[in-house]
Amino acid sequence: MRTGHTHLFIPGPTNVPETVRQAMNLPMQDMRAPDFGDLTRRLFDDLKSVFRTQSGTVMMFPGSGTSAWEAAITNTLNPGDRVLMARHGQFSTLWVEMAQRLGLDVQVVDVPWGAGAPVREFNRLLAADTNDEIKAVFVTHNETATGVTSDVAGVRRALDENFHDALLFVDGVSSIGSLEFRMDEWGVDLAITGSQKGLMLPAGLGILAASEKAMLMSRTSTMRRAYHDFADMVAMNADGYFPYTPPTQLLHGLRQSLDRIATEGLDNVIARHRRLAEGVRHGVAAWGLDLVAEHPSLYSNTVSAIRTPPHVDAREVIRIAYEDYNTSLGSGLARLAGKVFRIGHIGDLNEGMCLTALSVAEMALMRAGTRLDLGAGVAAAQSWFMSEHLAQRDFRV
Ligand code: PLP
Repeated sequence: MRTGHTHLFIPGPTNVPETVRQAMNLPMQDMRAPDFGDLTRRLFDDLKSVFRTQSGTVMMFPGSGTSAWEAAITNTLNPGDRVLMARHGQFSTLWVEMAQRLGLDVQVVDVPWGAGAPVREFNRLLAADTNDEIKAVFVTHNETATGVTSDVAGVRRALDENFHDALLFVDGVSSIGSLEFRMDEWGVDLAITGSQKGLMLPAGLGILAASEKAMLMSRTSTMRRAYHDFADMVAMNADGYFPYTPPTQLLHGLRQSLDRIATEGLDNVIARHRRLAEGVRHGVAAWGLDLVAEHPSLYSNTVSAIRTPPHVDAREVIRIAYEDYNTSLGSGLARLAGKVFRIGHIGDLNEGMCLTALSVAEMALMRAGTRLDLGAGVAAAQSWFMSEHLAQRDFRV
């Protein structure tokens, strides 16, 4: 029998705060009631601040991040359009596959899993594209499989330096609402997220924001779409309604999670993710293990992908943590299976929870055959959290 709390340290779905869970515990509601728009119109407005956009149009599709990927593509591009994409982890790989299956001509740049979006190579390819054949550039802002955060602003600069008009698509599924993300400032045309990550909700909403330019393109784009048509969605959203049945419980949960983000302050949420992630990274360094991310400038503040030593099967670490300590750690995806486990530090989390993750991972690592000093990772993270606490106190004085 399992006793005590189940610990969830995967990078999504993330822990749902009790207040959000309670906010969803409501009787069913008429989604055509005259006052339904009072709930939803404010959600669209408040989501805009999470995307940091004023001019963007936010839409919520019943679905997940993947459905928002598809909505973004099918509403703004044309069959056979050339698009520029990088593959550097499982999610960027899946996005490439989707674009290919939808009939786009995908120019793929393969870089090592652990690298970020290849800004310099993108710059070179955009410069060479003198006939403007590339219609869109795709960036996976936070590659959840490898724990790598890419330089979206750098890709924007590459577009601007080449006076290139391609649309900029950004997968912000594991970054928006947790990491620095600036839709308007970075000139992002399609920004995508899901409900089950930084927004601390169950899965069920694919959320995206489209720039004015993307909305304009959607008027003439000829890719086939039905369920995900921006025009149907935007027309109904204007009064706060949906073209089909929305998940009303999730919308009430979203109200509560947006209130939580506003109360903590988005900047503070982002700073907390940095602080907690640094703590986890200090722990990993004390174990003598490597992250998949190739360079500190790429480290993700929402997920750490940790390489186990060559003789230690990461699946065994995850199994021990799950079966014996009631703790879910993230698995290594695709080519990283067995070599990597991940600690998700995204969403509703605090120092104590990160120390639990490290403490359980330490025991599971040791039992799976890793040589380390028990307590070393936890102590390193504690020291970091203490130093951060002291620095903040001194700052306040
Ligand atoms: N993109 C990234 C970066 C992700 O982390 C995920 C899921 O973890 C997805 C896309 C797919 O999102 P979903 O599972 O919500 O469809």
